[in-house]
Amino acid sequence: MSPFNAHIPVPADAAARRAMKPVVCYPVESLVAPDMRILDRARATMEKVGEVIVPPREGNTFEVPKGHFFRIVSVEGPQVGDLNLWNANDLSERFFSGKTRALHATHVTTGNRLWSNLPSLRPMATISHDTLGWYGFDEFGGGVHDVIGTRCDPYTNRLLSGSDYHHCCHSNLCRALAHHTGTDIKAVEPHVHDVLNVFMCTGFTRDTQQYFMKASPVRPGDFLEMFAEIDLLGALSACPGGDCSTSHSSDVAKCYPLKVEIYRPDMALLADWPFPERNGYQLQV
Ligand SMILES: [Zn+2]
Repeated sequence: MSPFNAHIPVPADAAARRAMKPVVCYPVESLVAPDMRILDRARATMEKVGEVIVPPREGNTFEVPKGHFFRIVSVEGPQVGDLNLWNANDLSERFFSGKTRALHATHVTTGNRLWSNLPSLRPMATISHDTLGWYGFDEFGGGVHDVIGTRCDPYTNRLLSGSDYHHCCHSNLCRALAHHTGTDIKAVEPHVHDVLNVFMCTGFTRDTQQYFMKASPVRPGDFLEMFAEIDLLGALSACPGGDCSTSHSSDVAKCYPLKVEIYRPDMALLADWPFPERNGYQLQV
């Protein structure tokens, strides 16, 4: 409890008020779940058609056509990646980590979807395989692939440390998008958004509910695989925090590259796949 609340009187029925049972904010039973059997059949036929290396403490971009799969692969050593996704044909539609968290959970895995921002609000990608799916939640409440963090950024770093660091994930994502679009870095910065923290192991401390990180359980060969529900432009930063076991926003941690692999399946197997349209709601004046 904040020390500033110590003098706030506790009502007589405080225990009863605290004992009220929680209800899930967004029951997802009405959502049509992705048919993973179709995706499994498709991924059994897929062939690699491209790959991109993300150097340590840098970012890079990649494109994934609708109906293709992509994998973020750990190579060389444990490394966390910060992922941004856009509609490849319209940068104003982008990954919405907050609503993805509200619809699924604090951490995502196979069968969960990455949703786009309002007003589109549709699945951009469906997680089709996660070699860290065994992890679940540990004794500290930590899990992998979170949508609770934001991205390490030079502004927060300056606020907390008073110094400037130019390879935070925010900076890496901005530089990668600027390079991809051939645009000025300041012009593309507003497109960079809260990330999926791939391979990062995080949670909230039990006592103070503060955001924590701990050494990622990822090892070389592990991957997180997704199915592109729309044409995607992705940007991935190999976080300067490395496995995020100690610190970030500096050159202290040991960092490794990440690899992104693009796969094309037999598209005939996806003939009945319900590729999503933008949300149909029309805002009223
Ligand atoms: Zn980072």
